[in-house]
Amino acid sequence: MTATTAESGRPDQPPTAEAGRPVRLTLTRRAGRAPRHLADLTQQERRDVAVSLGQPAFRADQVARHYYARLIAADEPEAMTDLPERDRQPLLDALLPRLLVPVRTLSCDDGLTRKTAWRTVDGASLESVIMRYPDRATVCVSSQAGCGMGCPFCATGQGGLTRNLSTAEIVEQVVHAARVLRRRELAGGETRLSNVVFMGMGEPLANYAAVIAALRRLTAHPPDGLGLSARGLTVSTVGLVPAIRRLAGEGLPVTLAVSLHAPDDVLRNELVPINTRWPVVEVLAAAWEYAEMTGRRVSVEYALIDGVNDDVGRADALADLLVGRLAHVNLIPLNPTGGSSWRASAPAGQRAFVRRLRDRGIVTTVRDTRGREIAAACGQLAAEPAGKPERRDRPEQVGSDRLVEFGAVGSTTPDGDRVLR
Ligand code: SAH
Ligand code: SF4
Repeated sequence: MTATTAESGRPDQPPTAEAGRPVRLTLTRRAGRAPRHLADLTQQERRDVAVSLGQPAFRADQVARHYYARLIAADEPEAMTDLPERDRQPLLDALLPRLLVPVRTLSCDDGLTRKTAWRTVDGASLESVIMRYPDRATVCVSSQAGCGMGCPFCATGQGGLTRNLSTAEIVEQVVHAARVLRRRELAGGETRLSNVVFMGMGEPLANYAAVIAALRRLTAHPPDGLGLSARGLTVSTVGLVPAIRRLAGEGLPVTLAVSLHAPDDVLRNELVPINTRWPVVEVLAAAWEYAEMTGRRVSVEYALIDGVNDDVGRADALADLLVGRLAHVNLIPLNPTGGSSWRASAPAGQRAFVRRLRDRGIVTTVRDTRGREIAAACGQLAAEPAGKPERRDRPEQVGSDRLVEFGAVGSTTPDGDRVLR
């Protein structure tokens, strides 16, 4: 793997951190490009496309309504009966090109969790995961094919960055999930998609413009978007400080999740290499600004790694940083990945860590390990081996038990975390 700058993608010298240590960003393959799709376009831009085809502008809105409101897929043109038959295909070619090809679907939790591995048209790999809970349905989406941030405990980071996803490639993962849920393709009957978490492959704030545009499409009402509530959207970041500040000013009250994983810079430099550029104190200062400007509680993500970051001394140090702040801690028992021998903390250690935080008044939850057996849990998403995309009509069933370590009866937080009892 060659170290490269994230922006240029050239095998240059690694960028030097302000603190003087190199930040390892990795790019493993040359990037292609996504075709233009209506989800990349504003209302005016998509109307311009229809006009450029010699069609009335409102045809673009009709197509957009089919996509966002009726959740019709690009390969179902026959369902778009209000478009004159001879105009249909040129419009669809220009506005609804195929972006993602399913390579494989796997499901578990008695069919309540489903992971789809996708291939983009230029051959990049990404994954998304749909998770159904009693009170909501969540899709975890990728914002990049791979990731260049190099966190050593994360399968995505171990593979490096292929390329940024386009706005439409991100939106398409969400539209697909909404369609699956509406068409009862997941166990439990028809339901509406309520939550979107940017916790799949990639660092969302390293693909800032596309992610912001995707958030706008997700929250706009049809025909301009899916009409989801911003309260159901969570953007998780490794801690890119200038981008957190920018996000705070976007007027999009989404939940911000900050992946902290250690309260001190020495350990965080190791777990989250970008910490050498933006250390803990700067990341949290930006998070508190975000909380103040949006009124939204920040979620502090902390993967519990046995013998690495799970000692009570670190729980106390974390509490010192968070006490009195508009924040809650979301502990994630480390999910295993191929390239790392680290393990999740033992249950007793997890409980001790939680107790320590709670004793200081810090709201603390433990995330369930949904999807672990199909490598769909946090940090396990990785590129599938290259090969010909294939379509499997019926998802494979892998396992049937839900791996909820602290009891499926635990209450839950809105963004899907299971409260430890
Ligand atoms: N790049 C973003 C979002 C994607 S990762 C980020 O890092 O925040 C989503 C979450 O999964 C992050 O909190 C990340 O730290 C966590 N994660 C990564 N690998 C993990 C693993 N092996 N076990 C548990 N959580 C992991
Ligand atoms: Fe990238 Fe997030 Fe994985 Fe780090 S944890 S490598 S930022 S996806």
